[in-house]
Amino acid sequence: MGKLVLGLDLGTTGNRAIAFDASFRPVAQAYAEFTQHFPRPGWVEHDPFEIWDTVLTCIRRVSREVNAADIAAVAVTNQRETTVLWDRETGRPVHNAIVWQCRRTAERCAELRAKHADEVHRRTGLVIDAYFSATKIAWVLENVPEARALAGQGRLLFGTVDTWAIWNLTGERVHATDPSNASRTLLYNIVEGRWDERLVELFGANGVVLPEVRPSLSLFGTTQKEILGREVPIAADLGDQQAALFGQGGFSPRSLKNTYGTGLFLLVNTGTRLALSDKLLTTVAWQKEGQPLQYALEGSAFVGGAAIQWLRDGLNLIESAAESEAMAGSLPDNEGVYFVPALVGLGAPHWDSSARGMFLGLTRSTRREHLVRAALEAMAFQTRDVIEALPREVRGEIRALKADGGATANNWLMQFQADILGIPVERSAVAETTALGAAAAAGMTVGIWSQEEFLASQRVDRVFTPTMGRGRAEELYARWREAVTRAKGWGA
Ligand code: ADP
Repeated sequence: MGKLVLGLDLGTTGNRAIAFDASFRPVAQAYAEFTQHFPRPGWVEHDPFEIWDTVLTCIRRVSREVNAADIAAVAVTNQRETTVLWDRETGRPVHNAIVWQCRRTAERCAELRAKHADEVHRRTGLVIDAYFSATKIAWVLENVPEARALAGQGRLLFGTVDTWAIWNLTGERVHATDPSNASRTLLYNIVEGRWDERLVELFGANGVVLPEVRPSLSLFGTTQKEILGREVPIAADLGDQQAALFGQGGFSPRSLKNTYGTGLFLLVNTGTRLALSDKLLTTVAWQKEGQPLQYALEGSAFVGGAAIQWLRDGLNLIESAAESEAMAGSLPDNEGVYFVPALVGLGAPHWDSSARGMFLGLTRSTRREHLVRAALEAMAFQTRDVIEALPREVRGEIRALKADGGATANNWLMQFQADILGIPVERSAVAETTALGAAAAAGMTVGIWSQEEFLASQRVDRVFTPTMGRGRAEELYARWREAVTRAKGWGA
């Protein structure tokens, strides 16, 4: 079988381990869900030990299916921003992990935003939001006495889930992260490529030990012998969306990918150029050993495929997500029916937490099919909104959109997306681009795989080329823009 790389994809609802072979194909995989804790409305937590246990379970299952001696490297990719704080001496977390989705620090963020938005944006590329790690750290320091005590003794370690996993994989020897994860904390200066004291002070994270930031493609240590029977190098660490861009072969500036999952996550590689945008986030894409930081612009819509889930589970309008494809295709046109999926407000590029969901244009002839079609169309329109918000010089260079994620199974959606954008949409043949991207990065770090081989292996499942007239596409899009203006501020 030759050399394998084990990609660990530590997601929000579960962890996954996949062993890839030298042709970048998955040869064995395991997935384990873990518990979501909702202690109050809007609060979301995970048990760090349950995260670690499920990682181990997945590794054990995969290593039984392959010859573990063939595993040349381990790669880590993870849900970003989620915050774990633990005691260096005992390895015990002082609180559950506070998940990126958790809104407990929203008020604090609003206060800070009023005063410091510009300065923080210039240093981090981010907006001050509860989504990112910094105010989650401050919350634990303020609310957990043990955390304060340990911080006072210099024993309180901070990490995102990659750091927590690497700490445990290495037998508590390595406390490290990479710039793609660090750039999601609000504490990392993306211009200078280092933790920023001023930000640590501003967000009240003093006293916490921040992980060492190493290049994304570099050696982070070795796994403890018991885990895979021998020590195996951990040779890549990337945030999940950045790993997906890597997994789609998005190495060159202007490469663009959109992931259609629960939300929509669009990333554009901007190379070594740090582009700031008032509508999109600037983030580190990755860093290779001895090379400068590579940057990306990111636009995330909170509700993408989740709207289809909601039609299924909330409204009982459909029985399966897959059914939406035939329903949308059964109509010649949207007949003026639009859906703005602002179910939790609107993310990029609108950033309106007071927006609320809306169906518009309903008449006596409106049927279930119209509502379902409108929810699919909304994914394509939201994607266009993000692309429209890209700086002109980036947008002008875009030739195609690489698509991955669960909802790309929907052919109707992919075709409509190509029509609305007026560029081809290339659907990835690999479902797990996140784990693949991290694994490919690790294979390159240990020198068993090359970037050229990886690019040559990239397989597109299907290309959807635009067929709709541009005039019609622009009409539909203009109507959507109008629908969005009506939904804004509704919940204020
Ligand atoms: P995540 O990684 O965010 O959990 P996935 O990439 O697994 O998401 O995609 C699941 C999402 O895709 C769900 O929100 C689901 O409603 C949506 N989805 C799955 N299949 C289809 C389909 N055929 N048409 C439209 N949406 C779909």
